[in-house]
Amino acid sequence: MAQHYRIALLGATGSIGVQTLDIIRRMPERFTLVAAVAQSRWQELAKVAREFGVRRVVIGDARYEAVLREALADTHVEVLVGSEAIEHVVSTEDVDMVVNALVGYAGLHPTLRAIDCGKRIALANKETLVVAGDIVMAAARAKGVEILPIDSEHSAIKQCLEGEKRENVRNLIITCSGGSLRDVPRECLADITPHEALQHPQWNMGAKITIDSATLVNKGFEVIEARWLFDMSPEQIKVVIHPQAIVHSMVEFRDGAVKAQLGTADMHTPISYALLYPDRASEANTPFSMLDYPMLTFSDVDREKYPALDIAYDCLHRGGTAPCTMNAANEVAVAAFLAEQCRLTDIVATIRHALQHATFVERPTIEEYDRVDAEARELARRFIEGLH
Ligand code: NAD
Ligand code: MG
Repeated sequence: MAQHYRIALLGATGSIGVQTLDIIRRMPERFTLVAAVAQSRWQELAKVAREFGVRRVVIGDARYEAVLREALADTHVEVLVGSEAIEHVVSTEDVDMVVNALVGYAGLHPTLRAIDCGKRIALANKETLVVAGDIVMAAARAKGVEILPIDSEHSAIKQCLEGEKRENVRNLIITCSGGSLRDVPRECLADITPHEALQHPQWNMGAKITIDSATLVNKGFEVIEARWLFDMSPEQIKVVIHPQAIVHSMVEFRDGAVKAQLGTADMHTPISYALLYPDRASEANTPFSMLDYPMLTFSDVDREKYPALDIAYDCLHRGGTAPCTMNAANEVAVAAFLAEQCRLTDIVATIRHALQHATFVERPTIEEYDRVDAEARELARRFIEGLH
């Protein structure tokens, strides 16, 4: 009989969360939703709780606790609040799998807690691995926990690596659509508005990752994510621009063979692959035909237009807390850009500033990651204030 999973979904109201709910809804014989977490959209969270009959919900922002309680007063749903409650709902005995679709650093501790409790993890929250990939992967290995990537590139690589010997892999080739500003000249980037940067041609995603895609910070993070997930050296991870977003990534082998995974740009496929692995969904959400895409093109990344990619590689080489600092500064700067408090090009400037000034720890503990994250955020905030 097929395995049945009882799921805790972190980030149930977001882009990945909503698509995960589609999959759970379509396969009641495979999945039960036990817990759902969101930051502030309490009405949507209450709706999810009712539809799926979940046992518990967590609202991140305490201001919405009372209204959420009221909205669920006639149910048996347990209402919890705040980050400690998120760690609680991933750990309960009635959960087998945690789908982590939170944004940013907030995803790290819940992932670690889920590993500690031996839960299977479908991971969309790439920041978990960007910040503390060393600690996270070591913990997962020690507990025998599988981390199944939801990120489409990493899902593609995992699919290409199935049945292959690790020592035969030469390179991982991560594809990159180029984001919303692919056709905008470098000189014009400073004048881009949040509205313009949020128009991604291929993927409809949350605001933060859409901006990260426009700056290629996202691609840099995906290189770091791949380094940890697949235990490859930074030199073995390449990035190519592929505007059609049909080839989701590739693996090159020593004998010259290259395997690629193709499909429509629809996150339902990598999400269901992570949820059902090693099984697959019985139907496609959006069927794919090669004939609709007679032209697939590939080109090099313009490293001057997109300095964030090289910064991410530098952070990987420096190791320690460098990627954590990059992530923290980026989170603060992206929020400031979305609030029209800085320019798009200030995001990279903020990252550089934080990397120059933040404490560097070579072999950090999780507490040191927390401290460096807080310090880098403060550095970033002050740097952005100083821009005015
Ligand atoms: P989103 O902004 O659409 O959704 C984020 C969700 O997390 C929301 O439900 C929000 O309420 C919740 N959340 C955020 N911070 C929280 C906190 N502190 N406490 C409780 N809940 C909190 O984001 P998204 O686009 O779905 O992305 C989620 C993650 O998946 C990110 O790490 C992103 O990089 C990754 N990812 C997304 C896509 C995509 O297509 N959207 C693709 C690949 C990877
Ligand atoms: Mg991706």
